[in-house]
Amino acid sequence: MEKTFISPSKYVQGSNVIEKIGSYVKPLGTVALVMADDFVWELLGDKVVGSLEKEGIKVEKVVFQGESSENEVIRIIDNAKDKNIGVCIGIGGGKAIDTVKAVGYGLHSKWVTVPTVAASDAPTSALSVIYSDEGVFESYKFYPQNPDLVLVDTKVIAEAPTRFFAAGIGDALATWVEGRATIEARKKAMAGGGATLAATAIAEKCWDTLFAYGYSAVQAVEKNAVTPAVEAVVEANTLLSGLGFESAGLAAAHAIHNGFTVLHGEIHSLMHGEKVAFGTLTQLILESRDMDEIDRFIELCVQIGLPTTLAEIKLENASMEDLYKVAEAACKPDETMNNMPFEVTPQMVVDAMLTADQYAKKVKEKMNK
Ligand SMILES: [Zn+2]
Repeated sequence: MEKTFISPSKYVQGSNVIEKIGSYVKPLGTVALVMADDFVWELLGDKVVGSLEKEGIKVEKVVFQGESSENEVIRIIDNAKDKNIGVCIGIGGGKAIDTVKAVGYGLHSKWVTVPTVAASDAPTSALSVIYSDEGVFESYKFYPQNPDLVLVDTKVIAEAPTRFFAAGIGDALATWVEGRATIEARKKAMAGGGATLAATAIAEKCWDTLFAYGYSAVQAVEKNAVTPAVEAVVEANTLLSGLGFESAGLAAAHAIHNGFTVLHGEIHSLMHGEKVAFGTLTQLILESRDMDEIDRFIELCVQIGLPTTLAEIKLENASMEDLYKVAEAACKPDETMNNMPFEVTPQMVVDAMLTADQYAKKVKEKMNK
């Protein structure tokens, strides 16, 4: 099997770097579609537009409606079609970023992602997750290229709620666990081939960085402070996790996350990375990993406020049928569950979820002693 590694053309990270967005975007185009939701426009609009216009870039402002859905993508493309857009800039969370990639692709322009939270690894990848207008997972959309620029302002990220930052750690912790499984299974990653040594090293570095600096970084963000630990974790959540998942592989953790979207109810109050954290724990149980590794994983999750039990993902009262529905969705033929090194049945997923829940409760009891 051939190996493939893909990445954005440029990654820029630093405190207050958003004030220089114009100089970074200038080589990419002279007419920019800038897309963000109302909240982000209010927060950063003046800085972004000011910097772009200072560099002579014409700005077409778009208000993102909040869902990374087919309809939203079509709406934005239709409005921008005849405006000569050279570059699309998406500012916001994972859904705004996933949408701007689809819009940029549709308009044949360059595209730039500016995450305002380090909550997921969407900013660097060449794919979007598409949901229905109601927020149910529909599909992955793949593009022939990654973003032309990823611009990450660590000051903006440190000022966002800590919960977003912790959720990003939840998403990033999955990277090595899923990459390792895909590599062991000798399956292809999203990038289209087997993992290179580079992707393998990046995915493992992501895991090590989160254990080294995750707890300290969360404490800093709690105070809206930017420290070297915050810089390290922002890079792990965004760049290392993004390159790692795309070029090393996704497996059970994200398949289980996607499975959760078939349920209705309170679970949808959880963030992507929070649900992925429980999916990762479930995968570690499925794989029967070393107990030390599982204990360490749970301990870090508990310390930074990531869920590890069914109650914490609002499924305490879920019926067996509901859990089975999640597991069935996670095991669908086109799901990344198929990157696991062994065949996984829905019943195995249900059993692993129940065990993950019970195991985490025991580790928490030990931690409280
Ligand atoms: Zn993810």
